[in-house]
Amino acid sequence: MFSKILIANRGEIALRVIRACRELGISSVAVHSTADSDAMHVRMADEAVCIGPAPGPQSYLSMPAIISACEITGAEAIHPGYGFLSENANFVQIVEDHDLKFIGPTAEHIRIMGDKITAKETMKSLGVPCVPGSDGGVPDLETARKVGEEIGYPVIIKATAGGGGRGMKLAKTASDLDEAFSTARAEGKAAFGNDEVYIEKYLGTPRHIEIQVFGDGKGRAVHLGERDCSLQRRHQKVLEEAPGPVIDAETRARIGKVCADAVASINYAGAGTIEFLYENGEFYFIEMNTRLQVEHPVTEAVFGVDLVKEQIRVAAGYPMKLSQDKLTLRGHAIEVRINAEKLPNFTPCPGKITTFHQPGGLGVRIDSALYTGYSIPPYYDSLIGKLIVVAQDRPAALSRLKRALDELIVDGVDTTLPLFHALLEEDAVQTGDYNIHWLEKWLETAEF
Ligand code: ADP
Repeated sequence: MFSKILIANRGEIALRVIRACRELGISSVAVHSTADSDAMHVRMADEAVCIGPAPGPQSYLSMPAIISACEITGAEAIHPGYGFLSENANFVQIVEDHDLKFIGPTAEHIRIMGDKITAKETMKSLGVPCVPGSDGGVPDLETARKVGEEIGYPVIIKATAGGGGRGMKLAKTASDLDEAFSTARAEGKAAFGNDEVYIEKYLGTPRHIEIQVFGDGKGRAVHLGERDCSLQRRHQKVLEEAPGPVIDAETRARIGKVCADAVASINYAGAGTIEFLYENGEFYFIEMNTRLQVEHPVTEAVFGVDLVKEQIRVAAGYPMKLSQDKLTLRGHAIEVRINAEKLPNFTPCPGKITTFHQPGGLGVRIDSALYTGYSIPPYYDSLIGKLIVVAQDRPAALSRLKRALDELIVDGVDTTLPLFHALLEEDAVQTGDYNIHWLEKWLETAEF
């Protein structure tokens, strides 16, 4: 087993990995920017190295600084968390070139799945159902018009390098196509340095259902059911749950097997998520994330597994502990993402936390790097914590969530907590009867 792991991340996910290391008896190394000297992950790790100034590109995204930190501390492996360098194939290559272990899949798998066109082609060839659309990239407007005619409007134009909800444009009718096409290309170029785009049929009322997979890198893989992440704002997830309110055991086993077989056949290593839109009983692949997801705790809660420990074990060359016949889904889990943002416009709201009081009790988990007196720096993502509850079924999980939200206090900055208090009063949330557009529509008239 590794004796020391460096965590190339910050915030709650860095804590998550440090906790797994500690339980496995592995020393942890935190890296941090000058803006994060007082951060919780720095305090909780066994060692900490300052790797640069506040802006991400000069610290958490600086590959030379992170590799040097490994060399200085003698860390043997790097856990990337999510975001930052977690899906950067070049980084993985550099890590391996320095005889260090990257805790995650190979550079090749990250590269394949990081390009959405190649990912879709690969998944299609492995028998995974995909959204109808262009065969590969669409080089010019003329081709785009032809594809639009063929598949029928509305269509969505997507940057092949896109992510985080950026680089996607809707064309409701043929007359919107020119503008949508050029904006998607421009956004792809500006945000990801790649202007290649492809076209997909736009699904009107789908749910977002994603399958958690895990591979041992040697041809064996399992699935851990689905998460429903349909409550979204600007294509960003707000609340996630497992199991999905509309997925039955037979459907779960069927789509789960398709996904597990697909990743097994490419010798995929570690945790991965295959994302689908789900409409009228059909699954349509949209992308694969080759890392741990923000919402992984809901899966851990209902399957009773520790995905991070399993990632570390498999990266260290141990046999995967997970086996399909021993994975049993029990109960229902819900996660809400707490952001330091001011409603109703979700404006980032960094600042000093004057009081932080965590809820507790049966079935409640808080993953957060906050503490009373902490100052949230303005440079990074506004996620400040996740509240996860688990109970025997969905109604019980919803009432536990309400109870835990009532106990949770975050004072000093504005947060998205009032959104969740309000959402729990909605019939659609109580019954689970919504699709990926429901939240945006609801927000148009919601008052906070
Ligand atoms: P990103 O990599 O930016 O997260 P995804 O491809 O995962 O992009 O899509 C994010 C979200 O965008 C989906 O969860 C869904 O809400 C919406 N979306 C993506 N593709 C389609 C589509 N073909 N039809 C309708 N909505 C879509």
